[in-house]
Amino acid sequence: MGQRRAMTKQESDLRRQLGAARRVVVKIGSQALCQPDGRLDSRTVAGLCQDLNALIDQGRQVVLVSSGAVASGTGELGAQIVAQLELGKQALAAIGQPLLMARYRQEFAIAHRHVAQILLTHGDLADRSRFLHARRVMGELLAAGVVPIINENDTVAVEELKFGDNDQLAAQVAHVVEADALVLLTEVEGLFSANPHTDASARLLPWVGASDQVAVAAAQTATSAFGTGGMRSKVLAAQKAGAVGIVSAIGSGKSPQALLRLLNGEQVGTVFAPPARKLQGKRSWIATSVRGRGSLHLDNGAALAISGGGKSLLPAGVVQVTGHFEIGDAVDLLDPEGKVIAKGLVRYASADAASVCGLRSEQIVQLFGWLPAGELVHRDDLVVL
Ligand code: GLU
Repeated sequence: MGQRRAMTKQESDLRRQLGAARRVVVKIGSQALCQPDGRLDSRTVAGLCQDLNALIDQGRQVVLVSSGAVASGTGELGAQIVAQLELGKQALAAIGQPLLMARYRQEFAIAHRHVAQILLTHGDLADRSRFLHARRVMGELLAAGVVPIINENDTVAVEELKFGDNDQLAAQVAHVVEADALVLLTEVEGLFSANPHTDASARLLPWVGASDQVAVAAAQTATSAFGTGGMRSKVLAAQKAGAVGIVSAIGSGKSPQALLRLLNGEQVGTVFAPPARKLQGKRSWIATSVRGRGSLHLDNGAALAISGGGKSLLPAGVVQVTGHFEIGDAVDLLDPEGKVIAKGLVRYASADAASVCGLRSEQIVQLFGWLPAGELVHRDDLVVL
């Protein structure tokens, strides 16, 4: 692993970007952070915090997204008691989260630094004003030299409020704080061509181009005992961060100083190229932080026009509306095969959208007596996926 190999120009550019990143979001998963019985792995926690402190000493700002609450809760009580009491993940996270924070507080205190806990649900970032509040507060903490430590608020996160896993949360946090880089730490060295635990021919992929990420995500599955992510979700998180111009990497949370080395531009782990064009402003928020509450099924012509980019979706191009949504909610746009091709904020509530679908503007005026909106989804509120 320590050997230098020849790098392509793209890879060396990406690694240079990691080396130059000033504001960094680092995510570590339960599998890397905890022992099999759920208790925190002291060496990993200490090593991680040493690396983070070293990064801050270099003049960088770091935000840590840490899993491990559910695992720590299990470790604290013991698996047998957990089973007897029939405690669910939401309760275990409530027990484990303060243990996790106490540990981080201790580690950062060695370097005379303070930590801050931020617990989020998906709903927090899907609301534009809460998203902007979170951005302001995290910015304030970073400017004050405090290390924000973030986890999903598991205790109150019911299904529709969940991020899915902490990899997605980390990608969204990277967008919230306008990070230069996102590093996802796991229990293996990086992204492999196959599962390295079961396939001896598996090799480490040093970098993944923007156009390869969909295929790579589809190929990866494995999940872990306490975490919910697996490699697939890490590739998806890298893609999500890439859409808003953030460089991502997957590295080992176990190998000494792997994080530091990655962020010093060395040849470890896997780096992900963001696409050439990045989304800005409100559209970047739509791409990373909101979830479709319903779907608009497009006819072939509309699907082609939308995929081409730069076009609004008119009611005439929609054949069917599903789900329940209000004006301003996010919806998915589906092509005739049922594939999601875009996401956007809708200008009609679902019942009205259903009655205008397939109609031209004059027909909508006849129906309502006026034209509530010319577009179902305006191009300024639309992101092609
Ligand atoms: N938020 C959960 C925890 O802290 C973990 C979720 C995940 O790993 O994706 O235990």
